[in-house]
Amino acid sequence: MITGSPGARITPPSTQDDWRQLWRQSITDGRELLSLLDLDHLADRLPAADAGFALRIPRGFAARMRRGDARDPLLLQVLPQLAELEHAPGFATDAVGDLAAREARGLLHKYQGRALLIASGSCAINCRYCFRRHFPYGEEMAAAGQWQQALEHIAQDASVNELILSGGDPLALATSKLEELTRGLGGIAHVTRLRIHTRLPVVLPERIDASLVEWLQALPLQTVVVVHANHPNEFDSSVDAACARLRDAGVTLLNQSVLLRAVNDDADVLTALSERMFAAGVLPYYLHQLDRVQGAAHFEVTDARALSLIEAMRNRLPGYLVPKLVREVGGDPSKRPI
Ligand SMILES: *Cc1c(COP(=O)(O)O)cnc(C)c1O
Ligand code: SF4
Repeated sequence: MITGSPGARITPPSTQDDWRQLWRQSITDGRELLSLLDLDHLADRLPAADAGFALRIPRGFAARMRRGDARDPLLLQVLPQLAELEHAPGFATDAVGDLAAREARGLLHKYQGRALLIASGSCAINCRYCFRRHFPYGEEMAAAGQWQQALEHIAQDASVNELILSGGDPLALATSKLEELTRGLGGIAHVTRLRIHTRLPVVLPERIDASLVEWLQALPLQTVVVVHANHPNEFDSSVDAACARLRDAGVTLLNQSVLLRAVNDDADVLTALSERMFAAGVLPYYLHQLDRVQGAAHFEVTDARALSLIEAMRNRLPGYLVPKLVREVGGDPSKRPI
């Protein structure tokens, strides 16, 4: 499940290319993806409609999938399944109470000291398990210079010392936009930390380019980047290089994974994931139980199984490589440990 040669026919892009061009060249057609992976016979199992959530995969990420393997753990994260269309009781469109925690346009303030800005509605990749797949980005995202209201709100609340950029994927914004945003933070002395939750260093590592690194280096804030990798096969030398560039810019690197049935609900895989991320200079932070979002029920793992997986990791790994197993419960003052 862990090793395997990447798809030879999908050539990983050169790191010289502009990341936006690579992003535009993403695979958006399920049939094309299956054909590149020699899995054409699965095309009849693609849902006719995209369940309101399009397929999108950077080619470099697809190149890390194994050809001819319908159970490839990277493929399963992104391939639309008929199961998404089934109604599952208990699975909702706003699974984590985001709309209730809204304080200003694009600003969610659920936990003490930390405010979360939905800085962008776009992602470089569309993950089928995503808890924000039904989020009304059109109204809520604070992108395109519309975050003035959010910044004013943070300026008035001295208890906020950490701003979290989330989305969507905040690194899907142009670096000039990110600069504009952090310039706006400049006058707010009580904000000392910036945290960026992003899947881009893993799914489109070319995004960590010279201008982004310059922006990070110049920030007068402690900066944490939480990459979202779920499986050790997501790492390759291009991801290692992106992580190294981030560390050179003084960033602390953490990882948050979602526990996903048939993708990473396996002690060997989770152990290998921790080892592999640490080799790239990334420490595990959270292992999340799935948010019960409509269309993602087929990824759910029971709490009992999740606990036994963590126990197995604890028996095999140094403590610092064992992530915290948590779930997000609307209305709680923090993520809830399981
Ligand atoms: C998850 C989350 C955070 C961050 O929580 P940590 O436990 O600090 O990682 C902050 N704000 C919101 C709205 C969140 O959903
Ligand atoms: S927000 Fe994160 S998990 Fe959701 S689709 Fe975007 S990259 Fe994937």
